[in-house]
Amino acid sequence: MNKYDTIIIGAGHNGLVAAAYIARQGRKVLVLERRAIVGGSVVTESFGEDFQVDAVWTGGTLRPDIIKELKLALPNVKEKPAFISLQPGGNHLTLNANSIKPFSERDAARWGEFVRFMNKSANILETACATLMPRLPMNFNIREGFGLMELGLELRLAGRKDMLNFIRALPMTAQELLEEYFESEAVRGAVASLGIHSLTLGPMSAGTGYTLIHNWMNRGGLAHVNVGKAGEITSALANAVRSFGGEVRTESEVTSIQIENQVAKGVVLATGEEISAETILSSADPKHTLLNLVGAQDLPPEFVWHTQSIKMRGSVAKVHLQTNGEHGIPAGTIVLAPSIKYLERAYDAAKYGEISEKPYLEVTTSGSTVSIHFQFAPYALKSGKWNVESGTVEKLALDSLAEYFPNLKSSIVNRKLITPKDLEETYGLTEGDLNHGQLLLDQFLFMRPIPGWSNHKTPIDNLYLCGSGVHGGGGVSGASGRNVVKVLK
Ligand SMILES: Cc1cc2nc3c(=O)[nH]c(=O)nc-3n(C[C@H](O)[C@H](O)[C@H](O)COP(=O)(O)OP(=O)(O)OC[C@H]3O[C@@H](n4cnc5c(N)ncnc54)[C@H](O)[C@@H]3O)c2cc1C
Repeated sequence: MNKYDTIIIGAGHNGLVAAAYIARQGRKVLVLERRAIVGGSVVTESFGEDFQVDAVWTGGTLRPDIIKELKLALPNVKEKPAFISLQPGGNHLTLNANSIKPFSERDAARWGEFVRFMNKSANILETACATLMPRLPMNFNIREGFGLMELGLELRLAGRKDMLNFIRALPMTAQELLEEYFESEAVRGAVASLGIHSLTLGPMSAGTGYTLIHNWMNRGGLAHVNVGKAGEITSALANAVRSFGGEVRTESEVTSIQIENQVAKGVVLATGEEISAETILSSADPKHTLLNLVGAQDLPPEFVWHTQSIKMRGSVAKVHLQTNGEHGIPAGTIVLAPSIKYLERAYDAAKYGEISEKPYLEVTTSGSTVSIHFQFAPYALKSGKWNVESGTVEKLALDSLAEYFPNLKSSIVNRKLITPKDLEETYGLTEGDLNHGQLLLDQFLFMRPIPGWSNHKTPIDNLYLCGSGVHGGGGVSGASGRNVVKVLK
């Protein structure tokens, strides 16, 4: 039987970040990925000749300290692409003070202050994500409490006013938060879209203030950066793992984690191969790892109950289009989010298990390809099945955009649709949930993935979680992959 110091389940960016840091310490590391390619949600894939897209996640980059520490050959992204909101009647609004003026002089004057507050809030959140949380309520000692103390210090340093505004914004609805800053529905709707991006909630739901800040942090602002280059990030990480002596094996699905007397000893692959290791990390989502790969029989009943209760509620589909280049869509991040009410109505459909007929869309382009993020397309449909309903999503997306980009439909030469069911079956995301668990206030800080287990540990000795579903995660910063290394023995 093969033996390693550390096995890491999943070669998404977090698994690879953890693997690179651990291999750099001279430990014998093996990363096991079920798909034929590495990257998880951070992948650039080809769906036909000249049809290459960031298949799942749209754009962004790792934390700069990870790029530096692992010496990754990745560009320092400084560009600030445009964020454009489509408006009724075929018009549009580019989100900056000058372009906001025709919509509202008052909002234009407040734009700078809003951006400053959001950047400051994102910095506070980033500090929180980079620090380990204590296992509250069961284990609060000085050593474990250090992360919370560091966060407290960061809040103090933010200044009294920003500290209070940040804490106050978290439980607010995106609507309430934005109404305090802006009077124009066009501005409110456009910014509120970040408060519901990836979430199965509308902007009138409590806690979307927090999601707005989290998504602003993930992107470094409103618009996606580095679009079309997801694969470069995870290829650079896989190369780093190998350069430090680690191994990355694709087409190697783990079907169970071997446990003896509450201690993880190894894994079993779908082929039946058994591989043992001193330490096992899983970057797969917590529900899949704990309920499928470990199994309830080896876990305390209350822990199982909490894990079963993690909210995974995917409602995003992606429509990728290969065009002849005449799509007519400008560069940047384009949203169909004309007002808060529009977004809330789009969510209303998801509440009842229906696909939004007037969806919230986010569109990006990379050369002649067009990628559309479609919300809401609930994983659990009230009636119908995803293999039947998939055409509906594409039709609704294209019909919604036709008013603004009349050449889009006729420019299409090939298409690829990714439904929430595909996100689960192909990309390994339980219930198609983008972040391995919704970005909600009750799944935040020391409550992510579940209360009492926020510091990567599990009730099984030598088994740790390191994906987006644990604190630090949600997004592609790599924070959870980096943080886990601090708690390993
Ligand atoms: C459609 C979509 C849009 C998104 N948009 C944004 C956005 O705008 N901004 C943002 O910051 N974030 C966004 N995200 C979220 C972000 O992409 C994820 O949070 C992040 O990529 C997760 O990284 P990870 O490494 O933790 O997990 P993953 O990327 O999910 O990687 C986990 C890996 O584990 C593998 N795996 C699972 N089970 C097993 C097993 N049993 N054996 C072996 N391997 C296994 C999977 O195949 C996968 O490769 C989006 C995600 C999606 C899906």
